Amino acid sequence: MENTAFNSEDTLTDFRAYGRSKALKQMNRGETRHWSDWRWQFSNRIKGLDALSGLLQLTCSEKEVYRDVIGRYKYAVTPYYFSLIDWSDTDDPIRKQCIPDPREIEFSLPGSEEDPLAERSHMPVPGLIHRYPDRVLAMVTGRCAVYCRHCNRKRTWISAEAGSTREAFCRMVEYVAASPGVREVIVSGGDPLISPLSLLDEFLKEFRKIPHVEVLRIGTRIPVVMPMRITEDLCQILARHRPLWINTHFNHPREITPESTKACERLLKAGIPVSNQAVLLKGVNDSLKVIKELCLGLQRIMVRPYYLFHCDAVRGADHFRTDIRKGVEIIQELWGKIGGLCIPNYVVDLPDGGGKAMMVPSYLLEFSQERAIFRTFEGNIVRYPCPEGADALL
Ligand SMILES: *Cc1c(COP(=O)(O)O)cnc(C)c1O
Ligand code: SF4
Repeated sequence: MENTAFNSEDTLTDFRAYGRSKALKQMNRGETRHWSDWRWQFSNRIKGLDALSGLLQLTCSEKEVYRDVIGRYKYAVTPYYFSLIDWSDTDDPIRKQCIPDPREIEFSLPGSEEDPLAERSHMPVPGLIHRYPDRVLAMVTGRCAVYCRHCNRKRTWISAEAGSTREAFCRMVEYVAASPGVREVIVSGGDPLISPLSLLDEFLKEFRKIPHVEVLRIGTRIPVVMPMRITEDLCQILARHRPLWINTHFNHPREITPESTKACERLLKAGIPVSNQAVLLKGVNDSLKVIKELCLGLQRIMVRPYYLFHCDAVRGADHFRTDIRKGVEIIQELWGKIGGLCIPNYVVDLPDGGGKAMMVPSYLLEFSQERAIFRTFEGNIVRYPCPEGADALL
């Protein structure tokens, strides 16, 4: 695969300036042939205090602060995702998503919690969240390729909740088998696509065997942070377990690269629809321009924008939270102006496990016996008659 990340002079200079991590020493020796090997990407992830210190040129006292930050919230970044950072921009959206920030431990807003969605209280067996009647979410691993600073399951980095042992997995399968109302299993984590292929195959096979499970879904950020993991072998295994949907997690148009495009294309070619769940993040994508570019870009690579999540009140991620009105404004500006296939549902997960609530701009102003009154996407008021007899209620 072409090593697009290194086509730009600037990126290369930044890499040289950094020069500390094992990954980059190898780069400097010209071992770029490993770039498209996901195992290399995974085992050469940038992590640890020394790498961070070199990277950010920390003073001794700053280094102590960062020691506390990563002592609480670990970090690891694949060389690929790292290469997307523009170091000349202190506000770089990729950097904000993957490089630790002292505000993770120093800043908090009222109401933030470790587990804002009360997921822990909706687990009938460890690692399995059953919050909605017809679908469950199975956390099969606690590990990820890149630890996103805005993750809403940061608590699980500190104390594991995932059912990542075989015994825990068996209990999940038993629970789903005994719950005939469950027609969809969402395999999540952590990131399930970093699991060994044989294990992934087993997870999917066991759930697939249950007669009332009609559909499988995988939640993964791998296409965005380590796209080379989407190999033909992986796609073949996934294809065996269709109907299977993938939800991935692009947050910024700069994450749409030739590599991530290729990963999505491979999945699509294997008959696996790919949708996207973005999170509205302050300083990363909280503007009409960025969200619009993201959504149009996703449509171009045939990834359907599914949800735009309001950033949850997660402890350790408060510096990413925006006002809810910001998202409503953005979605309102998109409606009617770009194709419906590019517009995600803007959703907030209500506190205490209240579930998802959709925030759609309202076009229906008034509804009476004889008519409905609408506001069009251009702001005009239109009456829509409801002639007598059109509804046969009586
Ligand atoms: C979001 C979520 C789901 C999936 O909901 P959809 O609206 O179908 O995408 C399932 N379980 C839990 C616990 C969730 O948070
Ligand atoms: S990939 Fe998902 S689960 Fe993992 S850190 Fe990022 S947001 Fe959290």
